[in-house]
Amino acid sequence: MSLREVLLWPDPRLKEICAPIEAISPEIEALAADMLETMYAAPGRGLAAPQVGVLLRMFVMDAGWKEGKSDPLVCINPMLQEVSEERAVMAEGCLSIPGISAEISRPAQVQMVWTGLNGGRYTQGFNGFAAACVQHELDHLDGVVTFDHLDAATREKLEAEYAA
Ligand code: ZN
Repeated sequence: MSLREVLLWPDPRLKEICAPIEAISPEIEALAADMLETMYAAPGRGLAAPQVGVLLRMFVMDAGWKEGKSDPLVCINPMLQEVSEERAVMAEGCLSIPGISAEISRPAQVQMVWTGLNGGRYTQGFNGFAAACVQHELDHLDGVVTFDHLDAATREKLEAEYAA
C-alpha cells in the first residue's frame, strides 16, 4: 500500500464525470487499499477516486472511525436508491479543499447501493453524518464539490477564504 497525492481544488480533474468500473482488477484492489490508507493519514472520513486523480466511480469511507466506530467501506459504482424528504444541514470539510468548512443542506437519510471489492452488491441506509458523507463522496464522482452547493454570496466568501 502507498499514500496517493490528494488533488486540491480547483484541479480540473475534480470537475469531471467519472466512468463506471467494469471489472474489479488487481489495480482497482490496490487503488482501494491506497485510498483507505490515504484517507486515514489525511486524516479524513471519505475519499473519492477522482481526488487521487483516478476518474472512476469509486470511493472509500469510514464515517465513525474518529469516534472509535470504524466501519471502512469501499463503494464501487455507488448509486442512491432512496432519499428522504427531510433535510439536514451539516458542516462539511473536504480533503481537496483543506481548511474550509461549508454548511450544506442535503436529504437527511439516504439508501445507497454499491458493489464491494468482493464483487458483492450491497444496499445500506445511512443517516446523520454518514448520510452527508455518502452524498459528498457521490458528488465527487460527478465533478461536484461543496462550493457547488452554496449560494453565490457564500461561495464567493468561502472561495476567498480558501484562496487566502
Ligand atoms: Zn470532498
